Amino acid sequence: MWQLWSWGRRPVTWVLVVEPLVFGLIVAASVRAFSIGITGVDWLYFGWLALGATAYLIATNVAAERRRGRDGNATHVDHTSLIFFVAAILLPVPLAIALVILVRTHRWWIARKPAYKFLHTTVSICLSVVGVHAVADWTALSSWTPGQTNLAPVGLGLAAAVGVYFAAQALMVGAARGLASDLWDQPRSQRPPDWRRTLRLDMLGTLQDNLEIVVTLLIALAITCAAAAWAPLALLVAPIGVALTVFMQRHEDLLQSSTTEGRTGLLRPEAFAERAAKILDRAARSHVPTSVMLVDLDHFKKVNDTFGHLVGDQVLAAVAGELRRSARAGDELCRWGGEEMVVLLPDTDLDEAVAVAERIRAAVEVLEIPITRAAGGDPWVMGAKDADGHRRSEEVRTVSIGVATMPEHGMTLHAAMKVADDEVYRAKHGGRNRVCAPERAKTTAAA
Ligand code: GH3
Ligand code: MG
Ligand code: MG
Repeated sequence: MWQLWSWGRRPVTWVLVVEPLVFGLIVAASVRAFSIGITGVDWLYFGWLALGATAYLIATNVAAERRRGRDGNATHVDHTSLIFFVAAILLPVPLAIALVILVRTHRWWIARKPAYKFLHTTVSICLSVVGVHAVADWTALSSWTPGQTNLAPVGLGLAAAVGVYFAAQALMVGAARGLASDLWDQPRSQRPPDWRRTLRLDMLGTLQDNLEIVVTLLIALAITCAAAAWAPLALLVAPIGVALTVFMQRHEDLLQSSTTEGRTGLLRPEAFAERAAKILDRAARSHVPTSVMLVDLDHFKKVNDTFGHLVGDQVLAAVAGELRRSARAGDELCRWGGEEMVVLLPDTDLDEAVAVAERIRAAVEVLEIPITRAAGGDPWVMGAKDADGHRRSEEVRTVSIGVATMPEHGMTLHAAMKVADDEVYRAKHGGRNRVCAPERAKTTAAA
């Protein structure tokens, strides 16, 4: 049920060694905390923070779900570290861990991650919490009272606490991700040219993600300082956490709508050109080919004329959806204009690109497109088979695809697109529903 073994031997070994160690640390720190004694003030802080955490969780449930839903596999910075960091400094270890369990149990329902990965992240948060608490104990942080004049040790302690929180996360989660990579199964000579960069991104996330975590931790620091002056200010975690999450959600929505086009969800040409430039830059440095394909719907005017523009729009969205399903991770998809779409295939030569294009062509040909009518009425599936297994020919949608490769057919995207466009023209004249590519006269078509 836990499917832990599916993670691979290396990450599983890492987890089995490191998780018991963290567990041991938590137990040791808890025993120490109980021997010192948990005071009424500790319980007061715990109550405040649990209240704040619950308010935060309820208020950000929808936002967090949307962020996860957008791209299930990507890493997600959520702002629960705000609560964990404040708790790590203000609370004894057992109460801080109790708060982690409270928040993580709640988040489990929207995480949609395998249990072993979710547990590993939770254990890594516990390590951060124990680490930050230890720093607060060792430095002047936990004995700091507002009004103290010598702030240097406190400042040092705070900086160390942020560093420890961050480092524990990077170590635990980064190592597991790095060890899980397929790259280790390939001999060095067969790894893609920029494998180190891919691995680093996979292990540590993007700079943007890391900055977001640091900012969240710095805000947590401010809340901790405020709470040390007056305990009820610990409740600030709730509204500030909510504001952060909602702000990031809006920011992502804006980014999304400025880079992708609403009807198809594919990139807008400007955003596509920007990403293509980066990909081509890397490709030029590592001397690998990049391919491009231009996809044009066949007889699309007829769809509009026969069924109306609203149906045309739905067909367009369905074909774009199929393109997304058939494309590989790393491919960039763009709605170039009207009913033309472009796919950029990094690190792909002409033969491979033609194979991908052929897969897309074949998938669109058998696509069944559910059409909803503005006026209501019976739902209708365009391209669905009749009882006798035939499809009405005017309902079958097809695409013509032209393929070209850089630098073989042009040094720039513009030049290669021109070649791909000529190939689309050739595919149309060859009878449509086919893939055409230059030179090797590579043409595939349905029988
Ligand atoms: P061909 O097989 O030669 O490509 O024939 P075609 O009818 O598809 O010809 P062409 O590619 O020139 O047609 C483009 C048509 O696509 C024109 C326009 O009516 C339609 N179109 C472009 N954008 C949209 C859109 O966003 N929605 C709808 N419904 N139609 C669009
Ligand atoms: Mg066209
Ligand atoms: Mg067309």
